[in-house]
Amino acid sequence: MRSYKAKAVTPIRLPDREGRIEALDAAGHNVFNLDSDAVYVDLLTDSGTGTMSDEQWAALMRGDEAYAGSSSFARLQSAVSDVMGFEHVIPTHQGRGAENVVYGSLLEEGDVVLNNTHFDTTRAHVANQGAEAVDCPVEGAWDREATGEFLGNFDVAQGREIADEVGAERIPVVVTTITNNSAAGQPVSLANIRETAELADELDAWFVVDACRFAENAHFVKEREPGQGDRALADIAREQLSYADAITMSGKKDALVNIGGFAAIRDDDLFERAKQRAILYEGFPTYGGLAGRDIEAMAVGLREAVDPPYVAERVEQVATLGELLQEAGIPIVTPTGGHAVYVDAGELLDHIPTERFPGQRLVCELYREGAVRGVELGSFAFPGADRPDYVRLAVPRRTYWREHLEHVAETAAAVREQREEYVGLEIVEEPPMKELRHFSARLEPVEE
Ligand SMILES: *Cc1c(COP(=O)(O)O)cnc(C)c1O
Repeated sequence: MRSYKAKAVTPIRLPDREGRIEALDAAGHNVFNLDSDAVYVDLLTDSGTGTMSDEQWAALMRGDEAYAGSSSFARLQSAVSDVMGFEHVIPTHQGRGAENVVYGSLLEEGDVVLNNTHFDTTRAHVANQGAEAVDCPVEGAWDREATGEFLGNFDVAQGREIADEVGAERIPVVVTTITNNSAAGQPVSLANIRETAELADELDAWFVVDACRFAENAHFVKEREPGQGDRALADIAREQLSYADAITMSGKKDALVNIGGFAAIRDDDLFERAKQRAILYEGFPTYGGLAGRDIEAMAVGLREAVDPPYVAERVEQVATLGELLQEAGIPIVTPTGGHAVYVDAGELLDHIPTERFPGQRLVCELYREGAVRGVELGSFAFPGADRPDYVRLAVPRRTYWREHLEHVAETAAAVREQREEYVGLEIVEEPPMKELRHFSARLEPVEE
């Protein structure tokens, strides 16, 4: 049962076929170049694309725009304390700002950071300090048909082996990302968070939790982990973070805002150091690159994030999209994670070789067929990485209804019908930094 109703709506239109073909050509077969007006169901990302509540919109008006000591900051502090159990908070413009503040204060050249799987921006911030990001996912994390309740877990044994190899003194930070975004949004168990914290302790390292989807993760823990079913979601959400020395948070995910983020830190000295870095990169530590109203909306969103009916519907909506796609014969990663469904384009379009970007071809055809926008996370987005050609369909929070998801599944079914006709793509224009090519490169179909 939905626990909210609509008060404001945004009109969307399905452009006609000719319009879609034109738009795709003009975009150079890259959906990042599309105008959002030309998109009907936008599943590009769940980051900052959700719908705020009436309470959040009301909170915007309460925003205190004082440069220092804003009362909106005090309300954020109180929300972070109540919901996440941290007293020291540094607001930042978004999640990567929090990563800069935390990792910039903790890392030095030559250090090694262990993480269940580094999210792209986390990896970049570790690298930016001259440190090395090492992933410790459990077996099956990237396997489309793996079964398991907590495939997002940190492989603690592997972490220990790496520590033996490189030396504990080189590992000042151990991180766990909940849910594990880069492993198809799979959840991490409470027991695993505890064990990872113990590993950090053994290594005398700081333990950081990337908490972007802490509420969705808590929902999975309640549903799946033995002994957790009777606990309040909010308790589980807090316990997950109670083992951490610091957390980094993107408000654009579970805090239900369109922009914002923060770091929260337990240690007084680290907090002082991080604040100095925040002043340099984000702004005075009571506003951190945000307007007071943005902070205010984030404080309200954080409390709404752990409302059990909301989170249950949110995660179930993603699962529903997965089921509809499976019924349409589309190969997806199962079990579905918390924020997105991953389609195996390499399998669906198995006549297109990896170097001709089957994932990007699928993204294009989902747009051409039904103005649905997803994103390729395979050979196009990660050149040279040995990973499957997946396409991610991320579901924005509180935004689409079942009818939209049915449209996505019908679109995918129509694409599947015509799959033999599709040819691969080649890049005809790309930016100098290969790692960023999927945001702006232009492609063309190749017949061969
Ligand atoms: C989105 C995200 C970030 C970065 O947050 P931004 O707000 O996009 O800067 C970091 N970690 C994870 C797991 C994320 O999903």
